[in-house]
Amino acid sequence: MTRRADEDELAAREAEALDRAAAARDADRDADRVVSPLADADDRVIETALRPKRLADFVGQQRVRDQLSLVLESAVRRGRPPDHVLLSGPPGLGKTTIAMIIAAELGMPMRITSGPAIERSGDLAAVLSTLTEGEVVFIDEIHRLARPAEEMLYLAMEDFRVDVVVGKGPGATAIPLDIAPFTLVGATTRSGLLPAPLRDRFGFTAHMDFYQPAELEIIIRRSAGLLGVTLRDEGAAELAGRSRGTPRIANRLLRRVRDYAEVKGNGVVDRAVARAALELYEVDEQGLDRLDRAVLEALIRRYGGGPVGLSTLAVLVGEEAETVEVVAEPFLVRRGLLARTPRGRVATPAAWEHLGLTPPEGNTGPGGLTGPGMATLFD
Ligand code: ADP
Repeated sequence: MTRRADEDELAAREAEALDRAAAARDADRDADRVVSPLADADDRVIETALRPKRLADFVGQQRVRDQLSLVLESAVRRGRPPDHVLLSGPPGLGKTTIAMIIAAELGMPMRITSGPAIERSGDLAAVLSTLTEGEVVFIDEIHRLARPAEEMLYLAMEDFRVDVVVGKGPGATAIPLDIAPFTLVGATTRSGLLPAPLRDRFGFTAHMDFYQPAELEIIIRRSAGLLGVTLRDEGAAELAGRSRGTPRIANRLLRRVRDYAEVKGNGVVDRAVARAALELYEVDEQGLDRLDRAVLEALIRRYGGGPVGLSTLAVLVGEEAETVEVVAEPFLVRRGLLARTPRGRVATPAAWEHLGLTPPEGNTGPGGLTGPGMATLFD
């Protein structure tokens, strides 16, 4: 397999895991993790204030920004709505933010909905039939749209028309209804799940990648300014390195560290305060938390690095197998600390080093140095 295919496969597996993480969070499993990429109720309130409003304020994702700026500018010049836009990538990287920026740059209002919220095609027809010309419609988690709604969307995207079905059974008739030209912005954490006919109807697709620490530093400094937090540069760097490449996590860590600085210090976040606070919250230098480290410890100290089956591993760390698989593993795999092999989970040499241990000689077998697990976050 090529490296790209490896990464795609890894990303697909991770996205799938994250999807299940959403379900796990609903069951309150992931809720108290300070390093979860999913938004909790607090995040949702504060994120409104922290979102950059214009493309020029959006940090990172340079290629996406450049391409999008062209798409939007030429649409504005022609006085026509731009192509439909698909944003794909893991949670917390700025898809919703970009959708809002698109509407702002076009000077148009935006409707927000999500795949799971549209249960019947009638729900979608209600949104589409009341649009004004040029409006932006944002559908989050678009891969979770119900089939009939998805089919209605094909026609709407292509011909700006919906067929409203009246009646049931053999007497049912479809009444075509013209709708105002609009721009659809779809967001998905699992683009591989989108049916091809839907994917093909987007004129512009952007894939969002994890952020570099330097970019996260800028984001954190900007958020600190908006929240009125006095943040020293070394404090920002400390937070950026532990944020798992994800702005949402960066903003959350900043708030936790701010709380700590206010209660235990003089409110200023410098390196020492950031370190002390994150130690308290058990987030280490690479962004691993207690559960992540427990998994690595169990693998290495009890099984010499593995391979170990998932259920055994779960028993060792006192968690459900699903929690280990969905909550801890995706990040460990992405960081190149853990590999999934057909025979079980394996700790990579980097994991040994992370725990301050020397990897045994010859730990380069399947899933070791050469496995897909060695794809790292910032390579
Ligand atoms: P997604 O929709 O991909 O889950 P969001 O757009 O909701 O992610 O972003 C999560 C949080 O991260 C928001 O509060 C937003 O302010 C912040 N954020 C994301 N990307 C950026 C960025 N490039 N610059 C600044 N803040 C960002």
